[in-house]
Order: sequence, then C-alpha cells, then structure tokens
Amino acid sequence: MVVGILKEPEGENRVALLPESVDELIKMGVEVIIESEAGNTSCVENEEYVSAGAKIDVKNKILEKSDILIKINAPEPDELIEGKIYIAIFNPLYRKELVSKTKEMYITSFSLDMIARSSRAQSMDILSSMATIAGYKAVLEAATKLPSFFPMFMTASGTIKPAKVLILGAGVAGLQALATARKLGAVVEVFDVRSAVKEEVMSLGGKFIEVEGSREDASAGGYAVQQTEEFVEKQKQLIHKHAKKSKVIICTAQIQGKKAPVLIRKETVEAMEAGSVIVDLAASSGGNCELTANNKTVFHNRVRIIGKSNYPSTMPVDASRMFGKNLLNFLKVLITPEGKLNLDFEDEIISSTCITHEGKVINNRINALIK
Ligand code: NAD
Repeated sequence: MVVGILKEPEGENRVALLPESVDELIKMGVEVIIESEAGNTSCVENEEYVSAGAKIDVKNKILEKSDILIKINAPEPDELIEGKIYIAIFNPLYRKELVSKTKEMYITSFSLDMIARSSRAQSMDILSSMATIAGYKAVLEAATKLPSFFPMFMTASGTIKPAKVLILGAGVAGLQALATARKLGAVVEVFDVRSAVKEEVMSLGGKFIEVEGSREDASAGGYAVQQTEEFVEKQKQLIHKHAKKSKVIICTAQIQGKKAPVLIRKETVEAMEAGSVIVDLAASSGGNCELTANNKTVFHNRVRIIGKSNYPSTMPVDASRMFGKNLLNFLKVLITPEGKLNLDFEDEIISSTCITHEGKVINNRINALIK
C-alpha cells in the first residue's frame, strides 16, 4: 500500500502529515511518499521526512504511484486520477460539483470534515482540532488589534476595566475562544441555541445568555438546526443589547451545510464603541455579521470586522501535528494491520466520511442534499 502526501496550495501553510507520524504508518506496512517541499511552510525540510523513512518525489510521480492520495485542502482538478482513493477536506456539503466530478471519475473520496461526532471518532476529529486553533487564534488576533487591554489593571494612573468579550456560538471554536479570552482576563458572555452548552460555558467562567424558544433536534447529531425567523429576530435584538457593551465579538455560530445565521446587523456594529473588533470565524459560510467579507478585514464606523477563515494555517506546526494525528488514527481504521485496505461500510467512521465510491455517491447525507 502506497500513501502519497500532496503539497497544499499557495497560501496554505499546513501539511497533512509531519515526519513524526511517518514512522507509525511505515510500521503498518505502508510506503509513504511526500511531495517535495510539502513541509517547508510547516518548518519541515524534505530531509526530515527521509530520515523518518518516507520517500520524496514530484507530484506527477506521486499521483501515479500512490494507492491513497492525501491532502488537507480538496485536490485540484489536475490532481484527480481516475479510480484512485483520496482523503482530504472536500467540504462536500458546499461543493456539489466536486462530488459529481469524483463520482464520474470512479474516485473513492473520503472527506474528513464529515466524520461522525462520536466518542470513538474523537481521535480522528479534524473539525475539532482545527476549530480549537481557530478559537484560540481569533482571540489572540482580537487582543492584538484592540486598542485597549483585555485584563483589568490597577495602576498608578488609575484602574483599567477588563474588556468585555461576546462569543456567538459555543461549539469547539467558541469554547476555546471563551477559555482563551478568560485566560487573558476578559469578562466573557456567550450565546448559543443549544441549551446543553450552558454548563460548559459556566464551567469555563463565561456568562451564558439564553434566548427562550430555540429549536433543538435530537436527530441532528448534536449540531444546531435552523431557527425560526421570529427566534432569530429576538436573538438579534438581545445580541444588539450585549454587543453595545462589548469591545470584542468572536463569531462562531454555524449550521452544518447551511449559510451561517446572520446575528449582528449593521446597526449593531454602529452601536459599538470605536476601536472594537469583530472576528467572524463563520466568514466562509457567509458570516454571523451582516458586514463580514470572507478573507478580508472591513472597517465600519471605526469597528474592525475580520473575516479570516483559515486561522489553522497561521499556526502550521501544531495544526499539521493535530491534523496528522487525526489522519493517522483514521488510517488505522481504513488500513488493516497487514497494510490492506479495509472498506467496511458498516463502520460509521468509514460510512460517515466516504462520499463517492465505484461511480456512486454513497454518503446518505450528501445523497439527500444532491436529490
Ligand atoms: P459548529 O461549528 O457546527 O457550530 C458552532 C456553534 O454555533 C454550535 O455550538 C451551534 O449550536 C452554534 N449555533 C448555531 N446557530 C446559532 C445561533 N443562531 N445562535 C447562536 N449559536 C448558534 O459546532 P461544532 O463545534 O462543530 O460542534 C457541533 C456539535 O458536535 C456540538 O454538539 C459538539 O458538542 C459536538 N461535538 C462532538 C464531538 C464528539 O463527540 N466527538 C466532538 C466535537 C464536537
């Protein structure tokens, strides 16, 4: 079994596997080939992969020789080879055309962003790993851009009040943002539609703001579901009240496969203090703020709205380390200890991530979306 690791596109600093994980793959009877210079932006040289037991080659040769091709970002059209196996973040809920293409090319595609959110899958959960980084980095970025302190200071020149931080969405990114903002000494308030997170928010030192009447669906696998217009309206009004008193807002509210809910109106931004910072981690799916632009920073009424959607790439060493460990755990399910492919579709790890196989879309969630 040959596993090929492809170089990420320009602007992406992560790599799917670090040398530290190569050894374990080799022990599984797998041959590992890395595209030349794939690790450079994650501070890893070709020689380090070679010392760990991998081979280095150019893209075309890797595409030709590998049974399984791996990348973090979805492969480009010229990297798709008929009948091969690919593992990446395909984002299939948002990229129907790519799903159709891999189906037509008889590619077996595994999308790691679709992994079941179960206890067994936790060690392979790249969404949680990357959201942890995003939540952490979003707060650090806000703290460096804010023209004021985060913590309270009692100085000879008077007392400085702690910054108020508002967090929208208490999933993995939101909870990490809360923990980081608290460590920096901010006072933190959090909104979410899932009442289950209230205790977690409180245990991390945040204040949970509840809006009565949210819709929750036990069949949604723990994910939030779309709310009624009436609820969202009520929520926006309450957020407006709290946003006016906050210097920083970290937006993380998402609904898988859908456009992110718009929770901050233009009027809310206009009611915020000059110099305030909004970091919108939901930017790539439309943003929680009406004024967010994906991968851009917008200034409105002297409020900075940051729509950066790839924070993990700004911390490539640990991001690659976490991604690589998750990937390795996934490969231990996909490949037998004898180094053979184990396509057991009865296993939820395989069935939740496999999108296309033998010319068909075999993932139930994607099939439902395409129909
Ligand atoms: P996500 O990125 O899909 O969404 C972020 C948060 O936004 C969620 O908490 C969601 O409830 C919230 N949200 C959605 N609409 C909102 C609105 N209108 N207002 C306020 N908040 C809103 O979330 P995620 O971090 O990917 O986590 C999704 C689920 O998976 C959660 O239930 C989480 O606990 C669960 N999870 C399970 C595991 C595991 O068991 N392996 C690991 C990680 C996460």
